Amino acid sequence: MKAKPKFETLAIKSTENQFSNVEPVSTPIYLSSTYKRNSDGSYNNDLVYSRSDNPNRKIVEHSIAQLENGKHAFAFSSGMAAVSAIFQSLKTGDHIILPDDIYYAIKNLMEQVFKPWKLTYDLVDMTDLKAIENAIKPSTSLIWIESPSNPQLKISDIAAISKIAKNKNILCVVDNTWATPVFQNPLELGATIVLHSSTKYFGGHSDVIGGCVVVNDDTLAEKIKAIQVLSGAVPSPFDCWLIARGIQTLHLRVTKQAENALKLAQYLENHPKIEKVNYPGLESHSQHLIAKRQLKNGFGAMLSILIKGNEKETFEISTKLKYFTTATSLGGVESLVEHRKSVEGKESPTPSNLLRISVGIEHIDDLIVDWENALVKSTQ
Ligand code: PLP
Repeated sequence: MKAKPKFETLAIKSTENQFSNVEPVSTPIYLSSTYKRNSDGSYNNDLVYSRSDNPNRKIVEHSIAQLENGKHAFAFSSGMAAVSAIFQSLKTGDHIILPDDIYYAIKNLMEQVFKPWKLTYDLVDMTDLKAIENAIKPSTSLIWIESPSNPQLKISDIAAISKIAKNKNILCVVDNTWATPVFQNPLELGATIVLHSSTKYFGGHSDVIGGCVVVNDDTLAEKIKAIQVLSGAVPSPFDCWLIARGIQTLHLRVTKQAENALKLAQYLENHPKIEKVNYPGLESHSQHLIAKRQLKNGFGAMLSILIKGNEKETFEISTKLKYFTTATSLGGVESLVEHRKSVEGKESPTPSNLLRISVGIEHIDDLIVDWENALVKSTQ
């Protein structure tokens, strides 16, 4: 008997996807949380359930693996979820070497979440190879590099540190968020793991939160995949769609942003109100030669400056800028400025006269005039 389905059934069946044979040029957002199983029990494209995998995530992971010259990439719901996955892959009692200048939330994550789980760590000046070697213990299983570092733009010698790590069978992670794969490919320099906050340059428009882990090693990949799927800190298809869209213009954006950043750094370096500019593209940067060797085609679009003045004066300057929005985060097309210590908290080692600058794609002349005006006003 072929009865017409009732309204409730019709409402479900009539809205089913009918367009599996259309071929859009722009990738659609596959919101489905689950995928049809074939009568033989198989699944098309290994798609079962969206926490395990989905087309938009596959695209982002494939793309980031390619851009980093890596074999496997795993996308997460934030950079911090990606960092957590790396820590979760370790075992109780493991010791980690962290940079003394590191994105402060990673230190907090270690202190507040992973220390109670019996991971231990030491903060080390990663520009000092001897200090790294001296900090290695029998239980050290991971060395963390952030280069350029947040917020002081220290440069670590990735090849040299990776070599130290490899000799001792220790994993070496590079947080490549600030450099982006346009300027730096840590796996090629010997690192075992690359981490990204895709919230920043991959997304590029300050409208999505995401993270990614890239590895070559198959066993490590299996571990990270299990943590991704079982812990479930996965990005939504829409987040992945935004990140994939951002990646399409990554090269154009960051090349322009880095060009602007170098010019702004050179301008600020010569300003009498500025005590110091931290930018690896400046010859005055103490690791400039390593930066030149390690970063290709540019030095990134982040810088930080020390103002000749106290915390209050420093903060005030940031509020006088018109084209630099005072906000946290970085990597979007718009320029941002931030008084970093007041964000990181009282315990932070960041100098209280430091402003962190994320340079956008605006015209460099406007950006420089903006600083000229803000610094003049600060002296009045
Ligand atoms: N790594 C670096 C260098 C960062 O600057 C950030 C965030 O600012 C993160 C990791 C964490 O990323 P998310 O905010 O996407 O969790």
